[in-house]
Amino acid sequence: MKGLVLDTSALYYGKDLPDGYELIISPGVVRELEREGMGPRLEFLLASKIRVYSPEEKHIEKVQLAARVTGDISRLSDTDIEVLALAHETGYQLVTDDYSIQNTAAELGVPCRGLDQRGITSVWHWEARCIGCGKIFESNVSVCDICGSGTKSARKRKPRTKR
Ligand SMILES: [Zn+2]
Repeated sequence: MKGLVLDTSALYYGKDLPDGYELIISPGVVRELEREGMGPRLEFLLASKIRVYSPEEKHIEKVQLAARVTGDISRLSDTDIEVLALAHETGYQLVTDDYSIQNTAAELGVPCRGLDQRGITSVWHWEARCIGCGKIFESNVSVCDICGSGTKSARKRKPRTKR
């Protein structure tokens, strides 16, 4: 059976869930939906359509590795990493409107699409640029070692593209 992994945004903003798929979410998505007051809708979904799975640790580690490569790691919540790991583990398509999730999915080779059905076509990597002298750093550097100014993160397009 084909399946989809849904993140919080897919359930929060998505109207109709697709039929004919196994739909799965992570425990973190359940917690986030409960926090957003989606409890009653969630109960209905869990009773009828959606199942909750916890991803295996080794898939979480793969996701963290990929997110460090793209520089998305600081933009991803534990829940974001869980849904990515679930998609990596199951091979199901991931549905999310979160750009950093989509970007990390592309790096991982996990099929992914937004709620509007379009996927992203290339992987962005993040970099940090000094606002004083313009030196470029890895995305996790916040203070320039040349002039001491702060940095701003920006997307850097990788030369290669995926799918
Ligand atoms: Zn500088």
